[in-house]
Amino acid sequence: MNGEVILCKNGEIVLKGQNRRNFESMLIKELRRRAFQHGAFKIYAQQSTIYIEPLNDEADMDAVYETAKHVFGIIGVTRAKACEKTMDSIIETAKAYLSDKLEGKRTFKVEAKRSDKSFPLTSLEISREVGGAILEMMGGRLRVDVKNPEVVITVEVRDTNAYIRAGQEPGAGGLPIRSAGRGLLMLSGGIDSPVAGCMMAKRGLEIEALHFDSFPYTSERALEKVMTLAEEMCEFCSKIHVHVISLTHIQEELRDKCEEDYFTLLLRMFMMKLAERCANEYKCGAIITGESLGQVASQTLAAIGVTDSAVTIPVLRPCIGLDKSEIVIEARKYGTFETSILPFEDCCTVFTPRHPRTQPKLADVMAQLDRVDFEGLLDEAYATLRTETKLVFPEYR
Ligand code: ATP
Ligand code: MG
Repeated sequence: MNGEVILCKNGEIVLKGQNRRNFESMLIKELRRRAFQHGAFKIYAQQSTIYIEPLNDEADMDAVYETAKHVFGIIGVTRAKACEKTMDSIIETAKAYLSDKLEGKRTFKVEAKRSDKSFPLTSLEISREVGGAILEMMGGRLRVDVKNPEVVITVEVRDTNAYIRAGQEPGAGGLPIRSAGRGLLMLSGGIDSPVAGCMMAKRGLEIEALHFDSFPYTSERALEKVMTLAEEMCEFCSKIHVHVISLTHIQEELRDKCEEDYFTLLLRMFMMKLAERCANEYKCGAIITGESLGQVASQTLAAIGVTDSAVTIPVLRPCIGLDKSEIVIEARKYGTFETSILPFEDCCTVFTPRHPRTQPKLADVMAQLDRVDFEGLLDEAYATLRTETKLVFPEYR
């Protein structure tokens, strides 16, 4: 073991006062679950930082470092070297540990922090000494730039050890998963809904997913695509149950009995109602969709107003103000984009009307709905619900 540790900086939870401990223990639990498969680690919190220490040489630090960047609630991740709390040890360790990291760089600065106030040198003195030693080691290839350095070297003198690090990478940000409750994501095979799920997970929601299929109009492979998306989302969302409901009969009834122009809107009324039932059964406080204002006919303000009126539960639409190009950037970040663009049909593309209503009136939509057995079809569809669990990290207690 070489004394290297991973430091994870807590984000907003630092502001949570009384609840901070709760939030911290959620983060630790999530990190333990992820680290578990990469070897033996000791993971603990101290002074708004979570420390991940390998317990033997087999522990895979690279893998844990990468996965820590995907844990919501953490704003920065760095590798650091622990050493004894003496200036000699700090300087020697800094030189040995940082020489690789400084190669090819032109400017740096040293920041020192001292939570152990009994340490004989002030922060400024520590910075100066370490900076001087680094300059000497690099022999003129590196200079100090306090305003705009390429590399910031941080020396922290804490209770038990000193830590030396350079180059913090951004973490996933947000709040720990599950800290804000649970939301039911309406998950299609498109680009937007996986992004919507990840965005709400970032704000602390545990994600439960609901997918509608229209077998045999939609294929087994379309469903597999959705399952793959859920699995990819788990890299950030931790664990997702995917519930699947068949809309086939509802769609056939709407096709046979209602005006074509209203088809999509009516279908969406059913989807929202079924989602609300599922949310209630699985204790989700909100429905999440990938809708973006004006993107398609069913996402005009009037159409959203109509579909919203089907339910009383809050509907969260984190993509509502994003352009498609912005949603694509998020999809790439969350690793779902490549799967989302695979060409499989979705239930919404089956029997799509040629001239969908963009300015629907609720009364007209309700009149169309009267042509079918709304409650009966809902019960029948809900009875088809089946559940699969997706997770990328094994359960860990
Ligand atoms: P996406 O890219 O997420 O599919 P979209 O732009 O294609 O969105 P729509 O097809 O109108 O938009 O769907 C709007 C939202 O309704 C989706 O973001 C998703 O939350 C939900 N939705 C659509 N189809 C399904 C489905 N088959 N199963 C579950 N939810 C769906
Ligand atoms: Mg879609």
